[in-house]
Amino acid sequence: MNDSQMRRVYLDHNATTPVHPEVLGAMLPYYKEKFGNASSIHGFGKEIKVALEESREKVAKSINATSNEIYFTGGGTESDNLAIKGTAFANRKKGKHIITSKIEHHAILESCKFLEKEGFEIAYLPVDKSGFVDPDDLKKALRKDTILVSIMYANNEVGTIEPVEELAKIAKDNGVYFHTDAVQAMGKIPADVQKLNVDMLSVSGHKIYGPKGVGAIYIRKGTRIIPWSHGGSHERSRRAGTENVPGIVGLAKALEIVHKEMEEQSKHLRNLTETFYRKLTQAIPDVFLNGHLEKRIPNTLSLSFKAVEGESIILSLDLKGVAVSTGSACASGSLEPSHVLSAMGIAPELAQAAIRFSFGRDNTMEDVDYVVKILPEIVSRLRSMSPLYANK
Ligand SMILES: *Cc1c(COP(=O)(O)O)cnc(C)c1O
Repeated sequence: MNDSQMRRVYLDHNATTPVHPEVLGAMLPYYKEKFGNASSIHGFGKEIKVALEESREKVAKSINATSNEIYFTGGGTESDNLAIKGTAFANRKKGKHIITSKIEHHAILESCKFLEKEGFEIAYLPVDKSGFVDPDDLKKALRKDTILVSIMYANNEVGTIEPVEELAKIAKDNGVYFHTDAVQAMGKIPADVQKLNVDMLSVSGHKIYGPKGVGAIYIRKGTRIIPWSHGGSHERSRRAGTENVPGIVGLAKALEIVHKEMEEQSKHLRNLTETFYRKLTQAIPDVFLNGHLEKRIPNTLSLSFKAVEGESIILSLDLKGVAVSTGSACASGSLEPSHVLSAMGIAPELAQAAIRFSFGRDNTMEDVDYVVKILPEIVSRLRSMSPLYANK
C-alpha cells in the first residue's frame, strides 16, 4: 500500500481538533466583506459589534451565564493566566495563598510558579490513583489568607472529571474564589456555571472544533480581578486588543454545535472508547488504564503498555497513519514522565509507557478496528526487543 492509500486515523483530539465545516462557514465572511473593527462607530464597525455581542450571547447561553460575564481571549492559556494572575494581584491585600492541584495544565501551573516568585504561596493538592482531588484535602488546605482555588474540570491527559461542584462549594462556603479550567470538558460534559457554582471558567476554541488562538473566560459578576493586558478598553477593559472577530464568531458557533450535540456525541464517543478498550485489552496482555473508566470525559483513554516506550508506539503508529500522543502535547519531546501520571502514583516505567488516545466526532468503529488490528503486532515487536519484558 502506498502513502496515498494509507488509512489515516486521528486520535489526538485533546491536542487539537479540526475546524467544523459549519464553524468555518460562519467565520469566512468576517475575513472578507465583514472586516470592520468593532470599536469603529461607522457602519463597518457597527455590524461587527453586533456579531461580537451575538457571539458573546451564544457563549453565555452554553454555560448558563449572562453575556456581560463573558470575555474573549487569545485561547485557553490566556484565559487561565488571566484567572490566576488577575485574581491574585487584585486580591493580594486580602491574602497571598492560592490552592490548585498537581495535575493542572501547564497554563495554570506555570502561572502559579510565576506567582511564587512574586511572593504568593501555592498549595498543590495531591490526587488519588485515578486522578481525583479529594474534597477533604481542599478543606484541610484552606487558610484564612486563601484567595483563590483553581481545579480543572476534566484532565487533558487521562480524562478524569474532578468533583468541581463539591470543591467549588467548599471554596465558596469559605469566601474564596473558585476557578476551573474547563477547556477539555466543554462539549463533552455539561458545564453550567450556576450549578457548578464557579466564579471563573476557561474555554478554548480549538479543542471544540473551533479555531486556534481564541478562547473565552467566564468571570462571575462582582469578582475582583485585574486585567493582564493593557491598552484600549476592549472587553470592558479586562482584555485589551482588537478582538479576533472571525475567531470569536467561530468559537461561539463551535460551542453552539458541541452543546447541541453533546448527548449524541457522548454516546458515540463512549461506545468507541469502551469498545476500543475491551478489544485492545483482549488482544494485548499487560495493558493498564490510567484514570477512571466511568468518571472520565467520554473521548479520552490513557493506556500504559508494560515494558514499551510510549514514544516508540507513537512512531510505529504514525508509520501506519495513526496519530496518538503521550501524556500531553506540550510535554511531547521531553523525557520527563508526565506530571499528571506521576501525581497519580503511576510508576515511572508505566508512565513512560503511556499513550493517550483521544477520539473525536469523526472517528468511526472502522477506526477502532484498524488500530486494534495493527497495535498488537507493534507492541509485541517492541516487547520482543525489550529487556524489561519477559517473553511468555
Ligand atoms: C489545551 C488546553 C489548554 C490551553 O488552551 P490553548 O487554547 O491551547 O491555549 C488549557 N487547559 C487544558 C486542560 C487544555 O487541554
